[in-house]
Amino acid sequence: MRVLKLNTPLNQIRGIGPAVTAKLNKLGLNTVNDILYHFPFRYEDFSHVSNIADLVPKEQSTIHGVIEDVSVRRAWHRRMFITEAQIADETGTIRAVWFNQPYIKNILIAGQMANFAGKVSESEEGELYLSNPTFEVLKNENQETKHTARLVPIYPETRGFTSKGIRAILNSLLQNIPRLYDWIPKDILEKNSLPDLKNALQKIHYPETLNEAFYARKRFAFEDLYLLQLFNLIQKLTLAEEKSPKIPTDIEWLKNEVLSKLPFELTDGQKKSLWEIIKDIGEEKPMNRLIQGDVGSGKTAVAAVAALIAAKAGLQTAIMAPTEVLAKQHYETFKKLFLPMDKKIQPQIGLVTASEAKIFYEKDVEADTKKTSLIQKVKKGEIPIIIGTHALISGTAKNAFSFHNLGILIIDEQHRFGVKQRAELTKNSKGITPHFLSMSATPIPRTLMLSVFGDLDISVISELPKGRQEITTQVVQKENTTDAYNFIKQKLNEGRQAFVVCPRIEPSEEEKTAPKKQLFQNIKKLELKSVKEEYEKLSKTVFKDYKVAMLHGQMKPAEKEKIMADFKANKINVLVSTTVIEVGVDIPNAVVMVIEGSERFGLAQLHQLRGRIGRGEHKSYCYLFTDSKNPETNARLKAIIEAKNGFELAEKDLEIRGPGQFIGEEQSGFSDFMMKSLQNIELVKSARESAALTLTRSRNLEKFPNLKERFDEFKIRLHLE
Ligand code: ADP
Ligand code: MG
Repeated sequence: MRVLKLNTPLNQIRGIGPAVTAKLNKLGLNTVNDILYHFPFRYEDFSHVSNIADLVPKEQSTIHGVIEDVSVRRAWHRRMFITEAQIADETGTIRAVWFNQPYIKNILIAGQMANFAGKVSESEEGELYLSNPTFEVLKNENQETKHTARLVPIYPETRGFTSKGIRAILNSLLQNIPRLYDWIPKDILEKNSLPDLKNALQKIHYPETLNEAFYARKRFAFEDLYLLQLFNLIQKLTLAEEKSPKIPTDIEWLKNEVLSKLPFELTDGQKKSLWEIIKDIGEEKPMNRLIQGDVGSGKTAVAAVAALIAAKAGLQTAIMAPTEVLAKQHYETFKKLFLPMDKKIQPQIGLVTASEAKIFYEKDVEADTKKTSLIQKVKKGEIPIIIGTHALISGTAKNAFSFHNLGILIIDEQHRFGVKQRAELTKNSKGITPHFLSMSATPIPRTLMLSVFGDLDISVISELPKGRQEITTQVVQKENTTDAYNFIKQKLNEGRQAFVVCPRIEPSEEEKTAPKKQLFQNIKKLELKSVKEEYEKLSKTVFKDYKVAMLHGQMKPAEKEKIMADFKANKINVLVSTTVIEVGVDIPNAVVMVIEGSERFGLAQLHQLRGRIGRGEHKSYCYLFTDSKNPETNARLKAIIEAKNGFELAEKDLEIRGPGQFIGEEQSGFSDFMMKSLQNIELVKSARESAALTLTRSRNLEKFPNLKERFDEFKIRLHLE
């Protein structure tokens, strides 16, 4: 008997013919795994088997009887087919009716024995009948049933396959299950009281009781979390084996020469984060830390101090931002922070983007330079701090950066990709692993911190610096927008600027069943349409006397950068955009944020969008436009008005909308099932403990070849490699 593996292609399974295989492959279902892991989302309870005479209206039941007669006719009023069958058992007869399924006549044949399951209906005349019942023809009395007389699995229907069709295919596979091995080590299953794979698969599809299904489900919820935690911990262990330069901090110097010279006092959150960084970089083990804090909470300021400490120790720091605008912004922030300090400790700062290269020298001089000469200086170690975009690590051999002695790598707003980028950078830096720090303004709920971001240590800045202007937030019903627009015009006349964010496009329930890729493309198209319409409307009517520009995700990066740069330079009064306006963009002169269709956004996202304003000396205003009259929605929006920080909102959001929005549903490769498990903090924790235990047995999983194989597939599925 050949071993059956989860990655065995479907065409090797007896009972699944080439036509069906082709159809399945078209839907992206290629392996045994793809079918077996297509889980039911609920169960229909047809377990109550009844005599025809004992049927009760409105109850779910299964009857077992002989088909006496089957006929098809057309309904008189519409072009609809009605199929009818007479069914009899020892206690009586009943009529079953199906609408628009004429083919049923070819399946049900008079004289056959069959089960029929469904809700019992009652006609106006008081006759009981079965409407659209599920049926199952029985070859013999003891045949095990799959569609009736039990809990019956209901599957998310993929186009072309009904639940019944899926059950038929599953059947062939479930018969093969005894040949399937489990890839989770036994002790881990025992430790977590989880069923083994065969059992779990059998029970998730065909439970005898709902409790069995629940138990099976727990195992599958555990699986991906366990693999994810293995990934995180292996990542951590691998990193811990690498060596970074120890960067000592002279605390007296830090206090007297640096912190006391800053234009402000650090907040408690900043101090704590800085202290955690100082401890980390003082060790040989590479730092791998994420600073989380709302936009404007002062993460960049902390990063700048860390870079200064490295510079004092004679080591370089590279700061990578996702866009040119953000890179330039960091450069400006660094300059501003260092200026009041003693010239002797002011480091040179290099800026490199695709379009320019600059060096900020000591004595307040800034000079444009050639990228090649900047590269030379960096290579010789003459420039301790270098800020840039991806240009820092991409580039061909000739114009690639190589560092003299890179001590810290700082990445802004791209925490998920740190691993790769660090690897790329270290390729060019003589085997030294730099300490790694990433910064993110996305508040991430705790369970996700422990799972998806589990390889990172976290510092949190939960407060904003004192004296920030509070942003006035208002929920505005569609019929009251005129007042808001008039107020905004007044602000524009004063020289201020405004953002208008267009609604998020929610796919309909029906659209959600489309393949993910296509779904996201459709959403993007619709979003483009909505931003264009809004732009047309505002630029031609409400704001026709102002400069209005449009920004969306379909634009080329260079176009986007140009618009952002123009907005920053106040050449544009109103910017109409999708949510692409970057996290962290600092435009102190923008004091209005209008969010159209605000009820469609997550709370954390609204909070983030609001974070784009209130960054300067002027009072700022956030308008949450909505046409929803739903009191629940409005209560949710009001939560934004009261919330002081993003973390609270993130937790609330996770509950309401799930983890997709935090990890990028499109790219993550996480199944819907996994998305749910990510919300279960207890399970996340036990998965982590179990992963740790497994790794103490076998650091590289070589003692668990089945697990290793599954793990490698997982990494590919989640684009972790
Ligand atoms: P983030 O990177 O978290 O968005 P920044 O570090 O860019 O925040 O800080 C935002 C603005 O606040 C900058 O202009 C910075 O100089 C200023 N800032 C940072 N920390 C403080 C503080 N403790 N007190 C007052 N202003 C601060
Ligand atoms: Mg920032």
